[in-house]
Amino acid sequence: MQTILLIEDESAIADMVLYALKSEGFDSEWQRLGREGIDWLQQHPETALLILDIGLPDGNGFEFCKEIRRFSSIPIIFLTARNDEVDRIVGLEIGGDDYMGKPFSPRELTARVKAILKRSLPQKDQSAIEPCTFRIDFGRCRIQYHGQWLDLTRYEYQLMKTLLQQPERIFSRAQIMDQAWNEPEESLDRVVDTHIKTIRAKLRQIRGEENPIKTHRGMGYSISGSVCES
Ligand code: CA
Repeated sequence: MQTILLIEDESAIADMVLYALKSEGFDSEWQRLGREGIDWLQQHPETALLILDIGLPDGNGFEFCKEIRRFSSIPIIFLTARNDEVDRIVGLEIGGDDYMGKPFSPRELTARVKAILKRSLPQKDQSAIEPCTFRIDFGRCRIQYHGQWLDLTRYEYQLMKTLLQQPERIFSRAQIMDQAWNEPEESLDRVVDTHIKTIRAKLRQIRGEENPIKTHRGMGYSISGSVCES
């Protein structure tokens, strides 16, 4: 059975939506707050569709949508009292799939739910959540960051691979050189720093607000994030 997540703070509206979904054979989950809804969605990546209220007590549905789009391509239908064209365009531009202005008929909502699910069926596999911050392809010596392949030099790849073998562990410069360089005795500590700098710049291009590589003064470097292999 397909599960639909509803994030809506008004229980009268939620009751109506949940009842309509149930009568159409959908399983549903109701969350009152955006933050809790996102947490639930991260734990249930198989969720088929999200119905998202714009006016939530802990934030704006558009902002929550942007956050969700960083980890999921789940179809999203916005619910809002502000039924004007500007909102509609904003909603679709930031990654919503459809838009319902309140008041709306529950039957119209379920009809749209079904239409969107039908439309998104062929891409269902690709719409699965990518739980990995990093993905290492050992065979081809390449690394993905948030779903994008990084354009790394050989040493940058070796260095990142070393850090990613044990996320959160602090590696000294000597340990990094030992593992990443063929002739460590010919290299200098600052070579590691230089490569860290260029890697950080490449990561920033993909996700500017994150800085997964941490400098530990006098100790070395560590990386954080989930790592998958392919
Ligand atoms: Ca609301």
